[in-house]
Amino acid sequence: MTRPIAYITNSLVRHSAERDPEAITNAVANPWTAMVVLAGDLPILRKGEPGTCLLTAEILGRLPAHQEQVFLGTLNDRPVVATLVAPEAAELFQDDPVFTAVDLRSIAVRGLVPEEELGMLAMAKSLLDWHRRHRFCANCGAPTQPAQAGFRRDCAACGAQHFPRTDPVVIMLVTRGDKCLMGRQPRFPEKMYSCLAGFLEQGETIEDAVRRETFEEAGIRVGSVRYLASQPWPFPSNVMIGCIGEALTDDIAFDGEELEDARWFTKDDIRRMLDGTHEDFLAPAPIAIANHLIREWVKE
Ligand SMILES: [Zn+2]
Repeated sequence: MTRPIAYITNSLVRHSAERDPEAITNAVANPWTAMVVLAGDLPILRKGEPGTCLLTAEILGRLPAHQEQVFLGTLNDRPVVATLVAPEAAELFQDDPVFTAVDLRSIAVRGLVPEEELGMLAMAKSLLDWHRRHRFCANCGAPTQPAQAGFRRDCAACGAQHFPRTDPVVIMLVTRGDKCLMGRQPRFPEKMYSCLAGFLEQGETIEDAVRRETFEEAGIRVGSVRYLASQPWPFPSNVMIGCIGEALTDDIAFDGEELEDARWFTKDDIRRMLDGTHEDFLAPAPIAIANHLIREWVKE
């Protein structure tokens, strides 16, 4: 069975209207509350088949003082609080029989928690990471304080309010009849090719970003663009906007810096890459939206 795209399932009910100053204190005092804990970048999981990232507040007793706390919302009426502790705390669980600290990519690849928890972990990681990197006001440089149960940081010195950021990235499968365009970056695993992608710039539509990035990276002109699906990508806080673009030209040109190769693949190539029987090429990882884009395209 094909696993769904990682990080897209998040059953959490967000309580944006109830993010009052007591929301976190009340939730932490409630023994029913679920704790999602990250030691730096690493979520702490209770081991199992699968395990879970939903812990009880008792875990906090084993950890150093928290650096940040956020009230994420409720899951089946159960309040959920995300807590950030120092990265070194991960070492406490190195040989623990019950708990473990694992990076979020491996959690998705190895299916260490149910799919439904991956979206929540992505949310917790991006939000806590934002707090960690935004302790000072971008406007005046004074220290900022968390507000709105962790969904804002305020500057008392100049009055500025800072909101968590999400950085949009367009990722596109560019097609021309029975073939599609993919490239490989030097950092990719050997033989792996994937969809082209790039950050959406200010004042730019998603369609234009798809056209610009494809031309910059591979020299191919793109005409019509349609949206297919999106994926939160918490490394650290992107949203991947998956599109299919129609190529207007055939001749590929790349500079060898961003991409070390780019080429056209037939549907037969793609099918064999997906089932792992292609001798020369590998498909993008199943947790990535690029895998979903090519999978959908070969069905057409
Ligand atoms: Zn300020």
